[in-house]
Amino acid sequence: MKATNVLQAWAGILAGRKPSLSIEITKECPLRCPGCYAFDAGHLGGETELRQLSDFKGEELVKNILAIVDREKPLHVSLVGGDPLVRYRELEILLPELEARGVHTQIVTSAFRVIPAEWSRFTLLNVVVSIDGLQPEHDERRKPATYERILKNIAAAKVTIHSTITGNIAARPGYLEEFLRFWSARPEIRKVWFSLFTPQVGATGPEILTSEQRSFVVQDLLRLRVQYPILDMGEGLIKEILSPPKSPEDCIFAQTTHTISADLKTKITPCQFGGEPDCSQCGCIASMGLAAVGHHRVVGSLTAGQLFRVSDQIGRSWRALKHPFIRTTPAAKTSAFNILQS
Ligand code: SF4
Ligand code: SF4
Repeated sequence: MKATNVLQAWAGILAGRKPSLSIEITKECPLRCPGCYAFDAGHLGGETELRQLSDFKGEELVKNILAIVDREKPLHVSLVGGDPLVRYRELEILLPELEARGVHTQIVTSAFRVIPAEWSRFTLLNVVVSIDGLQPEHDERRKPATYERILKNIAAAKVTIHSTITGNIAARPGYLEEFLRFWSARPEIRKVWFSLFTPQVGATGPEILTSEQRSFVVQDLLRLRVQYPILDMGEGLIKEILSPPKSPEDCIFAQTTHTISADLKTKITPCQFGGEPDCSQCGCIASMGLAAVGHHRVVGSLTAGQLFRVSDQIGRSWRALKHPFIRTTPAAKTSAFNILQS
């Protein structure tokens, strides 16, 4: 990220806006992956589920998404689902519009259909393909988006590979290195990211990593990032996995991202996982990345995270003053005056 982006993000936060927007642009997906959080019954808080929402198609979807982008003015937009490639015709219209607005856009997909070669012309676009481990494990979980199909569908594109490490994978020494060896050899791959599986509070099962497995994965990633430059994860980010944010309030990623579901109005809280994610076992690369930025010292002992929290408080207070009828407490309004007058 360039210094101008950081300044833009900071200015937005001071004005009460979130610099990042994540939109589930469709409720549809041809896959039925085990452990998919988007289709989990608790994802939208328990009162409704993603499949029960009314979503949009065609011109209406394009118009509504652009209206949200123009209102929220994010620096970064993630288009997720369901699988956003279900709406690839709409994406063909949306992507040039987002690029023209200077918005960094990320599409997260299973690559169940071809990623058009022409999309490489968008300099602000990152297409992220989700891969669940090596071929045997992946194909079992993600058919019909098998390795064979993905390799055909990304052949003319440039993509980022994102893989979520589960307990089953962490228990197999050498697995991550084999994964990196395979994808490093592919010219279509720009970079590889890993997240660790993040459970909901109280969940059990073999996908959840033990604390020993988390430590082992961290050591392995610290070694592999040197050996495989395609692994785009800094040392600071990887080390954050050992001490994730204590709560959503403590998570800069959750606090800076506005996450909306397929009806384009239901908010997903507290973060993209929805429900009640167990922050103490979080392994989301975005959360770890921003936590690492948050621990960076800006001036003296002042960290970027402390600066963000003060700026965020000012921004929220400013928004409350500008929109006096939005739900807020008298104490918050008093605090807003105090902060703005001090
Ligand atoms: S491709 Fe993504 S949205 Fe679709 S079922 Fe799998 S994890 Fe869920
Ligand atoms: S991204 Fe991780 S740390 Fe942040 S709120 Fe969600 S589960 Fe918690």
